[in-house]
Amino acid sequence: MSRVYNFSAGPAVLPEEVLKECADEMMDYKGCGMSVMEMSHRSKVYDEIIKEAEKDLRDLMNIPDNYKVIFVQGGASLVFAEVPMNLMKKGKAAYIITGQWAKKAAQEAEKYGEVVRVASSADKTFSYIPDCSDLDIPEDVDYVYICENNTIYGTKFWELPNTKGHELVADVSSCFLSEPVDVTKYGVIYGGVQKNVGPSGVQIIIVREDLIADGPALKITPTMCDWKIQAENESLYNTPPCYGIYVCGKVFKWIKKMGGLEAMKAHNEKKAKILYDFLDQSKMFKGTVEKKDRSLMNVPFVTGNEELDKKFVAESKKAGFENLKGHRTVGGMRASIYNAMPIEGVEKLVAFMKKFEEENS
Ligand SMILES: *Cc1c(COP(=O)(O)O)cnc(C)c1O
Repeated sequence: MSRVYNFSAGPAVLPEEVLKECADEMMDYKGCGMSVMEMSHRSKVYDEIIKEAEKDLRDLMNIPDNYKVIFVQGGASLVFAEVPMNLMKKGKAAYIITGQWAKKAAQEAEKYGEVVRVASSADKTFSYIPDCSDLDIPEDVDYVYICENNTIYGTKFWELPNTKGHELVADVSSCFLSEPVDVTKYGVIYGGVQKNVGPSGVQIIIVREDLIADGPALKITPTMCDWKIQAENESLYNTPPCYGIYVCGKVFKWIKKMGGLEAMKAHNEKKAKILYDFLDQSKMFKGTVEKKDRSLMNVPFVTGNEELDKKFVAESKKAGFENLKGHRTVGGMRASIYNAMPIEGVEKLVAFMKKFEEENS
């Protein structure tokens, strides 16, 4: 077996231990004679899997009892529509535009109500997080929306915006479980799991109970997108993404074993520092975002020369580093170094970059 160092932005690297356990249990899950893929979502065995996954997630994130946790399908991109459908009671929301995903979320929300773009970093190709300490937020918005970690551009909100008393809704797809989080600061935290938590096909939505108590803001909301119904049915209104939830459950246990979110943060900071320290002294490679806003998860960088970028991506692939090509809208390179990326992966990448720099300058 030969495994590469996979720097994909998503779907992305998962802990080897988790993959092995899944392989071991593939044919016969704990003596029940079938795979988790083959069992009824209404069975007792599966009920334990989904309940335990929720419990472990609640432990890890310290989620208060007045928040519901739901596992749903459809991609983070469907949640872009679910947010306004469920929450736009007054028909208006504020969006902070820090990249493609926030932009898309705002465009989607506009189909259902009024969107006010209260801040944006589009002027410098989203290479920073705007100052959100004193934004002009209309009184009558239902929520303020952010994409907390910008997967494509490699920026992260290190300080949450001052929402002036409005509910905060955050897409955390690419920083989910990468560090401790104070859930009480948010009305809704959601993310697709395929960046940092599991296989694609599962969205986790953590929503404060009172926000969904009266059902969705829009009466036309499809039942499947109705967070109240999903919560009341404990994510089992219909067939959930069963296997994906099972893998997420294993990842939650792996993070617990690693020491929880504090330990995860330390691990992620260590890895990011290795890479950023190298970028900061390199004469060839440059990070593309403002230092204070750097993500721990997604690290875009360039050489400033497209041909050289191409050469680097090709040679890195041959050396066993996969998916370092930057997003099609940014170019250059991007190393996504999620929870499951081992420190050796980043150390070896930096050694490779050093060698490449020496050989090509
Ligand atoms: C990947 C990503 C999305 C889109 O996820 P899909 O599951 O493909 O819809 C949305 N937001 C962020 C921050 C992402 O990284």
